[in-house]
Amino acid sequence: MRTSQQLKSDLLAINHKSYPAYKSLSGRYQFDSYCLSIDHVQGDPFAAPSKVHLEIDGKTAAFAPHLYDTTPKRIALQDYLTRRFGQELRRISKKAGGSGKSGVIYSSQCCQEILERSCCEICPATGALLFRLEIGFPANGRSINSPELIKILFDLLPDCVERSLFARRLPKQELLDVEALCEDQQFIRSELKRLHLSAFVGNGAILPRMSGVSQLPLKGAVAFESPKSMEVTLSLPHHGPLAGMGIPEGITLIVGGGFHGKSTLLNALEMGVYDHIAGDGREYVITEASAFKLRAEDSRYISSTDISLFINDLPGRRDTKSFSTQDASGSTSQAANVIEGIESGASLFLIDEDTSATNFMIRDQLMQRVISDQEEPITPFISRVRALYEYSGISSVIVAGSSGAYFHVADTILQMKEYKPYDITERAREAAADFPAIHTEGLTYALPTFSRCPKAGSGLTGFDRMKIKVLGKDSIQINKSSIDLRYLEQLADTEQLSALAYLLTCGAKHYFRSGRSLIQVVDLLEQQIEAKGLASLADSSYLPANLARPRRQEIFACLNRCRELTFSYSNAR
Ligand code: ADP
Ligand code: MG
Repeated sequence: MRTSQQLKSDLLAINHKSYPAYKSLSGRYQFDSYCLSIDHVQGDPFAAPSKVHLEIDGKTAAFAPHLYDTTPKRIALQDYLTRRFGQELRRISKKAGGSGKSGVIYSSQCCQEILERSCCEICPATGALLFRLEIGFPANGRSINSPELIKILFDLLPDCVERSLFARRLPKQELLDVEALCEDQQFIRSELKRLHLSAFVGNGAILPRMSGVSQLPLKGAVAFESPKSMEVTLSLPHHGPLAGMGIPEGITLIVGGGFHGKSTLLNALEMGVYDHIAGDGREYVITEASAFKLRAEDSRYISSTDISLFINDLPGRRDTKSFSTQDASGSTSQAANVIEGIESGASLFLIDEDTSATNFMIRDQLMQRVISDQEEPITPFISRVRALYEYSGISSVIVAGSSGAYFHVADTILQMKEYKPYDITERAREAAADFPAIHTEGLTYALPTFSRCPKAGSGLTGFDRMKIKVLGKDSIQINKSSIDLRYLEQLADTEQLSALAYLLTCGAKHYFRSGRSLIQVVDLLEQQIEAKGLASLADSSYLPANLARPRRQEIFACLNRCRELTFSYSNAR
């Protein structure tokens, strides 16, 4: 390893030279309290910024081991440090400059959810800290401006690091608060299992968000308050007793007039699969971590999914035990989403009628009388929802403001009224007694085998270099093919989409082999992340700074939407 003084003299020696001379700086340099590694130097000042990382040894970072002795706590601490570093960066941004991206310094921008990110990694064994960032190496036109880079590397950056990545410089209480909140959240997660709850919504929670473009809590919102009949009080290790609404496993219906807060509650449950930072309002909204939002998704790609649980005898005798289409309808897409959700291991489905295909959700009495069951290919969700729970242990929370049909099949019925939930289970059941029930006699229930095997097409394998592009939270593009992910509403951050793109390319390179099922492929990908970290997904000499771990459910969903993957059944079924 070279010294920082050597780096400084090398930098001075290349001042005013043409930009590629920066390439000679790749390598590792010892600074006073950390090692700086220049991993990849950009080709010109307008290209993507250069990749560097910092290594701080455990003794110097000096975080008390109890702050990171479990995986969730380690992720919460990494998240906190990434946020702190980001705050410090904002203070110094634009203090160095030049052409193009000269002088920019990027690290991950965190969202309201606490995610595992490749930006910051703490070694569980030693407490050593690794921090990845991107720096636009400064230039005037195409000639090197090394005094500006010296300013960044020797003045601005050390100051940022000093103020945000060393325990001794951080407010001790804040570190303890991060740990305490994390332990409380993990406690609620374990209580869900013990008490057979699908979700917990703490009293006082703020569910609505500021706007469609801001995930900050809505100011002046009505705080959540559980109906007394559904209230459970949990004894959190730090917060102490906390009362809130426990949504029992089974089938839960959320009804109520328009604009009374039904979708807002469901959205909070969707994001409750993640832990939230203090001040978010949803700190104590905790949902079973595998919960999967089901919705209609017109025009999505489907390959060899067995949707026969819901759809049979399509016109033209199309096979629905291995259904494929480049352009799904509302009902076939939602049916595929259910089946693929089960394949991914989801044990809770979240459904909003606002975003569902009506003919997938219900079929009313009058329609049944006019169009006989034999003429209707769709077995609606309402006829399957109880069997899903009773035979497969999969619960559902369904928002249904306009149809009372689900009253018959629900275990719990909530009414949202002016943003407050009321338990109307008994009243609604009594009212429903006068109406004919859903008949499910004669329906057999059998889940598919889930032995589908993915095979990568030339769009994934036919390129030496994978070109990856991420378009916000909407889609990813790999080489020339684009994967539409905009309807995966539980993706919290664009960095998760970057990680999905790398997962797909890593899968194409190493794991999609004949005879290996989709479930086995996802298992292998997740094992690799566990063993070697997120950044190991990239094959390049430097590791990407901007990946956030997606859930298993979204990994499945992404692979299922990739038009360059075709699925087939290896063994005779
Ligand atoms: P619904 O699905 O019942 O039609 P929404 O959940 O879409 O209703 O909510 C309607 C509006 O009310 C939204 O703009 C939302 O931000 C707002 N809202 C929801 N919950 C609250 C609350 N607790 N306090 C204040 N406003 C809320
Ligand atoms: Mg709604």
